[in-house]
Amino acid sequence: MADAPTGNRPVTTWEYSPAPETSPVVIPDQTQLYVGGKFIEPHSKKRFATVNPATEAILSNIADGDAADVDAAVSAARKALKPWGKLPASERAKYLYRIARRIQERARELAILESMDGGKPIKESRDVDIPLAAQHFFHHAGWCDKLRYAMPGTREPRPVGVCGQIIPWNFPLLMAAWKLAPALACGNTVVLKPAETTSLTAMRLAEILQECDLPPGVVNIVTGAGATGKALVDHAGVDKIAFTGSTEVGKQIAQACAKRGTRLTLELGGKSANIIFADAAIDQAIEGIVQGIWFNQGHVCCAGSRLFVEESILPEVTRKLEMRMKTLRVGDPLDKNTDIGAINSKQQLAIIEGYIAEGSREGCTVCQPNHQTLPTKGYWCRPTFMTGVQPAHVVAREEIFGPVLAVMSFRTPEEAISRANNSPYGLAAGIWTEKGSKMFDVARRLQAGVVWCNTYNQFDATSPFGGFKESGFGREGGMQGLAAYLSE
Ligand code: NAP
Ligand code: MG
Repeated sequence: MADAPTGNRPVTTWEYSPAPETSPVVIPDQTQLYVGGKFIEPHSKKRFATVNPATEAILSNIADGDAADVDAAVSAARKALKPWGKLPASERAKYLYRIARRIQERARELAILESMDGGKPIKESRDVDIPLAAQHFFHHAGWCDKLRYAMPGTREPRPVGVCGQIIPWNFPLLMAAWKLAPALACGNTVVLKPAETTSLTAMRLAEILQECDLPPGVVNIVTGAGATGKALVDHAGVDKIAFTGSTEVGKQIAQACAKRGTRLTLELGGKSANIIFADAAIDQAIEGIVQGIWFNQGHVCCAGSRLFVEESILPEVTRKLEMRMKTLRVGDPLDKNTDIGAINSKQQLAIIEGYIAEGSREGCTVCQPNHQTLPTKGYWCRPTFMTGVQPAHVVAREEIFGPVLAVMSFRTPEEAISRANNSPYGLAAGIWTEKGSKMFDVARRLQAGVVWCNTYNQFDATSPFGGFKESGFGREGGMQGLAAYLSE
């Protein structure tokens, strides 16, 4: 431990011995598509590289699925639909339990691969992403033979059919689990399209599905870029699309689905408000702010990226936040001590840096610790917050999807609510107060799908998650999440 002077206050910088994860993970030079229970070559024979964003090294070459591959996958899913739906529900449940157990057994390998391919710290992939992915399969295994309770009616609810599912790069395996588990529990079959930069854990999941003897065609995985996703959305044989990603692409998908009457759920972007009242436990709130914006490098749809602080405590909160920010360790995602890993891609880093520059141009004060030397290779962004932000500033309105926090103030609960709701998004929010009546009153009036009280970024398979306004529609998780995959 050494003391490094910054400004007029000494700041502690922690020097740890490196503690990298050492289990070897074998990564194939190239991947294939998973269609009809088999690993197959992409029709075009084309591949694209996936890199480790912490080193820029090429990890593998990913099969680039085209419209013909999507067509083959949809046909396989269609063929599997009847036998899978006819299987006794208790038998279907056994497959989901098996998948959950196998994810647990291969958790270490999956966590390392997730951190290598996506850049997230191993402590997050190991303790959050992979356990939650297993939890989603366990939870939904329990639902298979209880679907009548999820959709009470005169008949047993039926599956929707063939589901096309498209996921982003910020929680690759977890998003795959969020999508697959409810669809399978309800008797649907699936074609999944992972994100271009993070396909490796999805292909390991395909191995797991094979190990679990999941009937061929029940899950098909077609890797590729945006065009592959578009081919899936445009395929006439798909009964339902479930999309998680940007609002911009979500709007295009909504148009395409509306034309054909395809069922749709959208989990899109956000610009969530984290509101700190003067009566809150400040030190705990500071941890909540850290968790809200710097978890997973801020690549979180529900990141608490707009901080609203009651005016009387603004100086104390910014001072404590700055101190706490300086203890965050940016670096090797495979090091167990790392708090902030690599930015997922060069393109995303450029977008984030663009927003930080825009904040400066708009007159905000940018606060970024610089006591730590960053690695020379890879894509890195220091944790950042901006003060002097006005609600009209670009950094207060647009989703940055990086470790950048816009700090603003308010005087009354009314003002906090109206400022928080002054956004095209409505995914999540945080409230920090010791007063229960204030907490419930504010929570009720916030336009957000999820409101966390005196905590932030808590996820559980039993709890529905989803947005309002341009953050999308439909819920994932819990009983509410099943509705999207059932028809009466
Ligand atoms: P994105 O560009 O919209 O991509 C999401 C997925 O869609 C990727 O698999 C992408 O493929 C694919 N895609 C791209 N263009 C497409 C098209 N025209 N038709 C069909 N599919 C297409 O979003 P992203 O940058 O990967 O992810 C970040 C966004 O996701 C953020 O806005 C974040 O807030 C949101 N998100 C929301 C939630 C939620 O639950 N609400 C959760 C996580 C993330 P490629 O990878 O090849 O581009
Ligand atoms: Mg990658």
